[in-house]
Amino acid sequence: MNTMRKRTIQIAQPVTGEDEWRAMRESIESGWLTHGPKVNAFERAFAERHNVKHALACTSATTGLHLALASLGVGPGDEVIVPAFTWVATANAVLYCGATVVFCDVDRTTYNLDIEDALKRVTPRTKAIVPVHLFGLCADIPTLRKKLPAQVKIVEDAACAAGGSLGNTSAGALGDVGVFSFHPRKSITTGEGGMVTTNDAKVAEVCAMLRNHGASVSEQERHHGAKPYILPEFNLLGFNYRMTDLQGSVGLVQLEKLDRFIDERAKWAAWYKKELSGISWLRQPGEPDAGRHAWQSYVTYVDPAKAPMPRNDIMQLLQDKGISTRPGTHAVHMLGFYRERFGYAADDFPGARDCDRNTMAIPLHNRMTDDDYKYVADTLRSI
Ligand SMILES: *Cc1c(COP(=O)(O)O)cnc(C)c1O
Repeated sequence: MNTMRKRTIQIAQPVTGEDEWRAMRESIESGWLTHGPKVNAFERAFAERHNVKHALACTSATTGLHLALASLGVGPGDEVIVPAFTWVATANAVLYCGATVVFCDVDRTTYNLDIEDALKRVTPRTKAIVPVHLFGLCADIPTLRKKLPAQVKIVEDAACAAGGSLGNTSAGALGDVGVFSFHPRKSITTGEGGMVTTNDAKVAEVCAMLRNHGASVSEQERHHGAKPYILPEFNLLGFNYRMTDLQGSVGLVQLEKLDRFIDERAKWAAWYKKELSGISWLRQPGEPDAGRHAWQSYVTYVDPAKAPMPRNDIMQLLQDKGISTRPGTHAVHMLGFYRERFGYAADDFPGARDCDRNTMAIPLHNRMTDDDYKYVADTLRSI
């Protein structure tokens, strides 16, 4: 009889507690609830940590991508290149702008965009490209920049890459604009939340207006200003994508823990790589030649030619043993809306199709114990 307690190891679990509670309570008691001093402080700290001049908080990476593209002037008639294997929001944001999504394929080992395939899809209408730092591994933006026509803007989908870098350059400072997520599935969280980063003062200014109804004077300035009769100007069609100060105060606390979280994940990622290297049917994730993987998740690739059973059966078996797994993410061109609206077939992007079918994220997060990791590795080896 198995007397071991039944384990449940989740795929991801945020680390929030007393510190975050105290910070949020302070905001609530201060009476300043929406974008205010805490969000401003979070933005400054985030910009500093990622070595970038401007950071603008918003409600999610999805709205951040919308803001980033809109502030670059992406609109109807423009084409934006997006890797086909990513979270659906990367492509949706392009459609929110009324622009055309042009998918490119991805590399089966890095899961990031296939640069040569992306370059083939550039046309005179291409306004931007959105390389994704999937699962925390930075896409090779320096190489992409060298080969792209100068007028094509680069928007990093850095939703998974807070704290990551390529060479000495931080995620969020590699392209023209970067976008981060603070959803609980990411390394640091504000419940929901996002951040847009840029070194371009003009983009930052437009972004700040767009997230606040297109207003050209911030609420805070108005609040503290000497002229109560002055209302902001509204010269742009904006949105309400403001982060609350409750979230900003939590973000500040979480940001201080980011490097510790990543270091711990990196340690266990290296351990997984060593422990799982003997499993011939399970390929381990890639790492940057130089720089830092942000390890948002640990995504393996089940080789269908060698695996003892189909990936989904392996995932079910692990679930039955209390280990949560997930497909890495999805191939967006195979999702119902995109398939039906644009008529894609799975085989149009074979790399994305294969990653959709064969990737498997295994648990890697900051609430796991040493025993949890050993249990995951032992269970995988026993298959
Ligand atoms: C999580 C994620 C998003 C969306 O982030 P939200 O903050 O939930 O909107 C976008 N792109 C990628 C690659 C993601 O992983």
